[in-house]
Amino acid sequence: MKKQKSIHSIGENAFFLLKEIAKAHPFLLVLVVSEIILGVVSPLFGIYLPSLAVKLVTESSDRAAILLKLGGFGLIYAAAAGLRQMASEGKYYLYNDMRNHFRFRLFYQSIDCDYRNIENKAGLTRYQRAMDSISGGDWSGTSRMLVSMIALITGTLCFVIYSGILTTLHPLIVLMLIVLSLCNLSLTKMAQAYEQHFKDEMAGLEQKIDYVEYTARDIHYGKDIRLYSMSDWFIEMRDMLADRSMRLQNRIKMRYFIVSCVNLLTHFLRNLITYGYLIYTVASGAIDIADFVLYFGAISGFSGFFETITSQYGNLNGANMQMNDLRSFLEITDETETENPAELPDSDRISIEFDHVWFSYDREAEPVLKDFSLRINAGEKLALVGVNGAGKTTIIKLLCGMYRPDQGTIRINGTDIRNFRKKDLYTLFSAVFQDIYIAPHTVAENVSMNMEAETDMQRVEACLEQTGLLKTIQSYPDSIHSQMTKLVHDGIMLSGGQQQKLLMARAVYKNAPVMILDEPTAALDPIAESETYENFHRLTTKKTVIYISHRLASTRFCDRILFLKDGAAVESGTHDELMRQGGEYAKMFEVQSHYYQKGGESNESAQ
Ligand code: ADP
Repeated sequence: MKKQKSIHSIGENAFFLLKEIAKAHPFLLVLVVSEIILGVVSPLFGIYLPSLAVKLVTESSDRAAILLKLGGFGLIYAAAAGLRQMASEGKYYLYNDMRNHFRFRLFYQSIDCDYRNIENKAGLTRYQRAMDSISGGDWSGTSRMLVSMIALITGTLCFVIYSGILTTLHPLIVLMLIVLSLCNLSLTKMAQAYEQHFKDEMAGLEQKIDYVEYTARDIHYGKDIRLYSMSDWFIEMRDMLADRSMRLQNRIKMRYFIVSCVNLLTHFLRNLITYGYLIYTVASGAIDIADFVLYFGAISGFSGFFETITSQYGNLNGANMQMNDLRSFLEITDETETENPAELPDSDRISIEFDHVWFSYDREAEPVLKDFSLRINAGEKLALVGVNGAGKTTIIKLLCGMYRPDQGTIRINGTDIRNFRKKDLYTLFSAVFQDIYIAPHTVAENVSMNMEAETDMQRVEACLEQTGLLKTIQSYPDSIHSQMTKLVHDGIMLSGGQQQKLLMARAVYKNAPVMILDEPTAALDPIAESETYENFHRLTTKKTVIYISHRLASTRFCDRILFLKDGAAVESGTHDELMRQGGEYAKMFEVQSHYYQKGGESNESAQ
């Protein structure tokens, strides 16, 4: 099982971020350090300059010397402030690339992690939250983490220096400033905890809104939406979701608003007491005008720095939550693989065995497979049939190693599949699934699933010829080099049946020893499906092949048919044997063939 550590402290995340920056953009680190040093030096100049000016004017009459001293300090101050600004702006500029760095890492993780980690709502929500942490430009969590970290370190260093200065005025002033600012900090933290409490609900709503908006503009659904006048329904659903999201956001914003009001009040109180005391000390002659100017600057600076510390600590907490969201997805660990992986069988003759396998997606729910056993001999053509939801695709996912059985063993040529590396195991299967995945690449690349430079073009043409699609593809000006889909390029669009032929060509091109057809023909009519299956049968005579269908006529030719019901094999035999048995298979076959004979169009009713 996965070992998940998703909550990291601010320190751990800051270290993680700096490590990533050092790897991807070392110059950004130089800017960060410069901004911190200059951020401490320039405000110090800022409060000493006016005090120095007062001191020089009151103690000396040499105007030239005064101007020289003040001009020199002024120049250094201006240079420090200017360089600090440059470091700060440069950091934003470079941080754009850092977001792309994380975006790439998320993309890589989503495409490479165990399938089971993303084929559920929790996985999708986790991905959505990780993406949120890098979306929103400079407001994204990872950007804010860096900005807040710099401000917090700068603020803390300045705070220590200014505390030293103000302690010489009165230590209680420092204490009072700290207490009031701590009140602000705890209030901000409460508001943030409130926001975090609704994070999952917000992410869920955003996911649904995205889905509705995506579906509304997806060309695959465009026809249905228009023909069935579904636009009102879509608009209503989007409005309802957007309204819920807005109300939730407003509740969160209201908390922040109340906290801001209380903070303003404490701010006013703080200024009243400190400036009042300072005026009293200068009026009583305890300090001179130059000291007054210095302390005045230090008090406004001190409040500012404590505010920076408290607010940036609050920001850092918020950014830290998003950093945790990012790392929570990046740190998804795949199931541990065996340290001494078994060699794959060196022959194409593959036998498969499910030995008393139990499996459920959700431990709380009813198992999908219950004590399921099956042996498929090398070269055998096996059909898995049964109603939707019987567990056919689950068997394939387990066989391909995308999920592991809760109990029982799956073997390939006698070896437990856990002993193979997952990436090795995948090479044993050419599967065509019901969900059609066409990449926005060329036809040739879609067949080889590789870049054109790495593709054997003659083999692509041979595979397309075998599945009956070559002529169609050759009718396009760029033939097999034509770009596909409208997602990225203005590429070609194939019909449902043609797409399925393309996927079969892909499976034939991969030429893996085990072929799987998992109802890729559901969009075809029964006769076309039957022809496609038989055509595929001819292309794969020597291989072990698993055919899945809920249309029983399509798999009659198979060596053996397994009829599945509620995750268990209830009948097994050839078509003729099962028909003679007169069990559930025979009944379903009779019902389906009755519909096909009465009217070819009504075949779906038999499902
Ligand atoms: P079939 O291929 O026979 O139609 P499946 O193997 O796809 O059936 O599904 C078997 C059962 O497992 C169904 O009840 C389905 O809802 C459930 N199921 C399939 N995939 C998932 C998943 N990722 N998470 C939870 N339940 C799932």
